[in-house]
Amino acid sequence: MADEETTGCEPETSAILAGRGEGETSLAPVLYPTSAFEFATIDEGRQMATAVGAERFYSRYGNPTINAFEAAIAELEGAEAARAFASGMGAVSAVALGLCSSGDHIVAQRQIYAGTQLFLQSACPRFGIDVTFVDGTESGAFEAAIRPGKTMLICAETPANPKLDLVDLDELGAITQATTVVDSTFATPLGQSPLAHGVDLVLHSATKGIAGHNDATIGVVAGSEELLSWLWGFAVLQGANASPYDAFNAHRGLRTLGVRLAHQAATAQRLAVFLEGHDSVDLVRYPGLESHPQHGLAERQMRSFGGLLTFDLGGDIETGGRFTEAVRLARQAPSLGGPETLISHPASTTHVGLTPEEMASTGIGPGTMRVSCGLEHPDDVVADIGQALLAASG
Ligand SMILES: *Cc1c(COP(=O)(O)O)cnc(C)c1O
Repeated sequence: MADEETTGCEPETSAILAGRGEGETSLAPVLYPTSAFEFATIDEGRQMATAVGAERFYSRYGNPTINAFEAAIAELEGAEAARAFASGMGAVSAVALGLCSSGDHIVAQRQIYAGTQLFLQSACPRFGIDVTFVDGTESGAFEAAIRPGKTMLICAETPANPKLDLVDLDELGAITQATTVVDSTFATPLGQSPLAHGVDLVLHSATKGIAGHNDATIGVVAGSEELLSWLWGFAVLQGANASPYDAFNAHRGLRTLGVRLAHQAATAQRLAVFLEGHDSVDLVRYPGLESHPQHGLAERQMRSFGGLLTFDLGGDIETGGRFTEAVRLARQAPSLGGPETLISHPASTTHVGLTPEEMASTGIGPGTMRVSCGLEHPDDVVADIGQALLAASG
């Protein structure tokens, strides 16, 4: 539902009003915590029970608070429809299990969120769905792995966990033999628009930048009416539907995403430049740095380079430990996109289950650090990381 008032405006502007129902006079999103709605006649009941996305029947089917958030995401992604889930993983699993059956095949990117990777590599085979992992940065890699008549889904993530590798969205969008889906969590709906490049579905862990305050666990998928109706039919039975409370927080968060993302991206750019010039840092990865191997691609397909960056301290696991113990302002936690600057150490957290060889093949070392820049003053963030680097190298 595109808002007439914001037609032709920049997405940061649209995000403020997106999803507001016609005639709605509440400035804030409206919370409907109810699990069910009453109806007057059996005809009305029948209509509700058979309508896709019924807004006032039973909240697993739909709910005005959740539907308003979905409408906002659909508008910002330039999609016909969207569906919210109980988490980002709820969205990932619904897309894979909703679109694939036993005997089907998925092509997925090797550089991908650890939860998604585990789901594809351990749960999917149990349902007879075969998965091939490819290097998403390599031109033609997804297409080359397609098995005609078998491959139903191509899963990509860009920028990708944790080294901020990029996938060429034009190339992915040109693939017609299978449904393509992009996890666009790191970019947010304001940072890039995968559907405009021809990709079929875009999904987000809205737990992160969209909700933006570490107070909601929620996921969302957007795409064509046809694909979303199909997914909705599966999702109602899967039961990984979003809570109205989380949808309310996510919709509230979306309205300030523009200023938050701009601030976080500016801090990330400054911190990246600072780290690149620092003696005790081996390697910095940020799409906004000219040294990023895909910086040109980032400039072509991203409106914002985002608030995340990765760097390598070199050394061993002790160096990583000394660094994380020395940070004062930044917190250690596995999330991203919130008000607090967060540091994560993949080798001891998200990627701890990998063998040293697997770790090396994903480009993660014992000193690799991921930073999600928060909303603090950039001077304070740079100063904190700077003093922790001195402590770690001392
Ligand atoms: C966090 C995250 C997920 C999973 O989302 P949850 O809301 O934690 O289930 C998926 N993809 C990416 C890129 C993420 O950062």
